[in-house]
Amino acid sequence: MKRILITGGAGFIGSHLCDRLLEEGNEVICLDNYFTGAKRNIIHLLDNPYFELIRHDVTSSFYVEVDEIYNLACPASPIHYQYNPIKTVKTSVMGAINMLGLAKRIKAKVLQASTSEVYGDPTIHPQPETYWGNVNPIGTRSCYDEGKRCAETLFMDYHLQNRVRIKIIRIFNTYGPRMHPDDGRVVSNFIVQALQGKDLTIYGDGSQTRSFQYVDDLLEGMVRMMQTGDEVTGPINLGNPDEFTILKLAKKVLELTGSKSKLIQLPLPQDDPLQRKPVITEAKIHLNDWEPVVGLDEGLQRTITYFDNLLSK
Ligand code: NAD
Ligand code: UDP
Repeated sequence: MKRILITGGAGFIGSHLCDRLLEEGNEVICLDNYFTGAKRNIIHLLDNPYFELIRHDVTSSFYVEVDEIYNLACPASPIHYQYNPIKTVKTSVMGAINMLGLAKRIKAKVLQASTSEVYGDPTIHPQPETYWGNVNPIGTRSCYDEGKRCAETLFMDYHLQNRVRIKIIRIFNTYGPRMHPDDGRVVSNFIVQALQGKDLTIYGDGSQTRSFQYVDDLLEGMVRMMQTGDEVTGPINLGNPDEFTILKLAKKVLELTGSKSKLIQLPLPQDDPLQRKPVITEAKIHLNDWEPVVGLDEGLQRTITYFDNLLSK
């Protein structure tokens, strides 16, 4: 049995990770300040004696004895990370420093949930880990993109300078049950709008692309990454290479929900990347032939069922 700290553990991905690591027989400490996470995501775990919940902000230091740290604390949706951009940078940068300092002191392995946003609006398509990205340092998305880029720098420097055992994963758009219904990301927006009979809001003409990964596929990759030998530091892309336009996603959601909602166009937000698709060769090589197995129809159906239940409560 390992003792594992998950920062951002009450969020969408973090709460699924808590479930998964507990199911595997570990002890889990979930740390969260509930900025975008919710107690309802982990309420079913509160009676589990191997689960501990701690209200804490990663920008302040934190001491605990654990074997592994998954550092997920950071708002992930543009609406939330732009709400208080200075705090977003602090969360990424100071959170990384605090978790790396802790990992160094207690000799734990530490995994950073980085993002495909480090590639910015990519000029190379699809994106391999060797691509350095095309990021605006002073735009509305910069607090998130540059915060995550700096966190990667810190992870690599702690590894090189202090031999901290690090793992960096670059997560591409991930969706599934427990996304916040109001968090503004495209999958949750479209599903909630379709279920409520509201217009589906397409930003721009909907020709921009994303590659959507179902949360279970990501978890499998994250856990395998943590289990790799110390020589595997990443960064490693974790995403589904199936690429869709936003317009196609909207039509798919209408089809699967049977909704009569209309599609409306709203302005494209600043610096919205035009295309996004991971190269996953590194993940296949280092993570035991890892690749996503849940297709968009199946993943959307599971997510629709979740939101249908949530909204009818
Ligand atoms: P989320 O917003 O549901 O989860 C983030 C969690 O971090 C929330 O529970 C929030 O309350 C917590 N948090 C935020 N600031 C904090 C702070 N200062 N101290 C302590 N806790 C804090 O988002 P998510 O989609 O579950 O994302 C989890 C991680 O994965 C994030 O680091 C995100 O950047 C990364 N990621 C997600 C995606 C995606 O598509 N979902 C893509 C790339 C990267
Ligand atoms: N988007 C959209 N309508 C929405 C929400 C998002 O058309 O209601 C678009 C957004 O402009 C972007 C894509 O969907 O091109 C993915 O947006 P999301 O916020 O989910 O993720 P990110 O832009 O961070 O990849």
